[in-house]
Amino acid sequence: METKTNQFKAEISEMLDLVVNSLYSKKEIFLRELISNASDAIDRAKFLSLTDKTLAQDNPDWKINIVVDKAQHTLMISDNGIGMDAAELEANLGTIANSGTKAFRKALKEKGGENLPELIGQFGVGFYAAFMVADKVRVVSKKRGGDAAFMWESDMSAEYTISDSVRDDYGTSVMLHLRDEHIEYLDRWRVAELVKKYSDFISVPIYFSQIDIPADEKDEDKKRREEDEAKALNTMVALWKRAKKDVKDEEYAEFYRHLTHDWDEPFETIPFSGEGQVEFKALLFIPKKATMDIYMPNQKRGLSLYVRNVFIGDDIEMLLPSYLRFVKGVVDSSDLPLNVSREMLQDDAVIAKIKSAVTAKILSTLESMKKDEKRYNEFWNAFGTVLKEGVHVDYSNADRIKKLLKWPSARNDPGKSVFLEDYVKDMGSEQKDIYYILSEREDDARKAPQLEAARKHGCDVLLFCDPVDEYLTESLREFDGKKFVDVGRGDVSFGSEAEQKAEKDANEKASKELKGFLDSVKTELGEKVSDVRVSTRLIDSPCCLVAKENALPPSMVRMMRAMKSDVPEEKRILELNASHPLVKKVAGMKGEELSDAVTLLYDAALIAEGSPVTDGARFTKLLAALMLK
Ligand code: ADP
Repeated sequence: METKTNQFKAEISEMLDLVVNSLYSKKEIFLRELISNASDAIDRAKFLSLTDKTLAQDNPDWKINIVVDKAQHTLMISDNGIGMDAAELEANLGTIANSGTKAFRKALKEKGGENLPELIGQFGVGFYAAFMVADKVRVVSKKRGGDAAFMWESDMSAEYTISDSVRDDYGTSVMLHLRDEHIEYLDRWRVAELVKKYSDFISVPIYFSQIDIPADEKDEDKKRREEDEAKALNTMVALWKRAKKDVKDEEYAEFYRHLTHDWDEPFETIPFSGEGQVEFKALLFIPKKATMDIYMPNQKRGLSLYVRNVFIGDDIEMLLPSYLRFVKGVVDSSDLPLNVSREMLQDDAVIAKIKSAVTAKILSTLESMKKDEKRYNEFWNAFGTVLKEGVHVDYSNADRIKKLLKWPSARNDPGKSVFLEDYVKDMGSEQKDIYYILSEREDDARKAPQLEAARKHGCDVLLFCDPVDEYLTESLREFDGKKFVDVGRGDVSFGSEAEQKAEKDANEKASKELKGFLDSVKTELGEKVSDVRVSTRLIDSPCCLVAKENALPPSMVRMMRAMKSDVPEEKRILELNASHPLVKKVAGMKGEELSDAVTLLYDAALIAEGSPVTDGARFTKLLAALMLK
């Protein structure tokens, strides 16, 4: 058979049905689409009249009017923009997926030039969103530069009509006859709400009025209505597009409140723009306090996204990494590839670039905030815990994030915390590693026997007492070439090499001497511990419990238990201070006396770290007996 070239055929009414009923997730979007078209039409008229004054002979006040007739169930969106003649009505509204706006933009781009208008339309389907709520749509338009008006009308069957019409002013009116179930869009508050949500930053005023006013309207109602009708529904100024120097703090604060529903002012305001590969403008805020839901899995955690001043969505998670979810704000870009319904973003590469620029900007803001200790502490107390997650999840920025983290430390008073840089700066020449201790409470950590040797050797120990710290230890790895070492785990030794060697020798000697005693303590404690040994980390305390070098962290054990997997108890090592008089004394005991003393020693180790004793009744009995002796 000969190759035949065919044209695709489309079942137009079904195609229309698809656009109207399947494209958008929310019916209310229709208003956004029609207002965007009106705004584009005005922008085109404004732009063209710069060079052709005759197009704006009527000296227009550029504006969009929304006029409802509650009795007739009609909603009209009217603009004084460029308008359409009969041929354009046919081309633009009679052809699905034909965008006159897109063609206009393309022609302008090809011609080149500056200050091109930022037009919204691009797909040529938005107009048909009207049929989501209307059973009949009538468009009356008079093109600037012409003098005839035309009417386009359709009831969403496969047909539309175009005929002569009359219109006093230039521009376009789109009149929707609403279906009964959609008459909510005749109410001022509902329309106002939608304008605020989607079209707040359209650059011309949007007014609302009602024409079927009851004859018996009271004077005071009339007065109120007329006042309302004189006010624009939209804010118009997209603050993020104005230079920082042109915006007052109060304006930023007001915008922040509008955006976040916070009563307070923002703690930090970060306006900035991205240039280069992806152009965008952003206005970010760090609040003063965390919201209650900051740790909830379904917390709102993204930025609001606008594309050419039109609201696309909020909580766009793709623009902000989760550990910066305390940041609120707006990103606006003309470059963003939206899907046809303009509800979703499409191109990961562009989004990824914006996300990384936003992340870098926030981190650099925090870096400069660090210079003001008091201010940084305020931020840190509110959001430090969330920021810490970044080390775990953002590998590429982990080094920057580490420099922004602080911890309390054994050497500093409670309430004061140190950055890793400061910790490292204060390290003695013999100290190779960064020491930390894990504990649920800072108070317990400060008193932990495991800190004694570190203290004796003048080493500071970071107190990891925030629940996330434990997870963090797996990803912190190193800082400034120095490893993180848990003083409550495995073998740790402090001091110069000579000191460490001397200590090791003494330790071996003591272990040999006390071998019999250590063995009987081990037998006595049985399953409770994995080993009993002589300690290098104790100075004043008789004993302590430490984790094996390769033991699972307690948080992991808890998590695995919660997931019902069968995790055996992580047994720890009991370390005894061989030079402590109590240990020396117990080493000389035998029989029941030894057994009781070992139980008390073990319980003492638990109490010292803030853990409960295993058998409270037995402990009390033994203690009472001891006191009576
Ligand atoms: P888009 O806005 O994405 O181009 P639409 O289906 O909403 O797609 O509109 C199709 C075209 O109809 C627009 O590109 C524009 O050329 C024209 N149009 C729609 N509304 C108006 C209007 N109010 N004034 C002038 N032209 C309009």
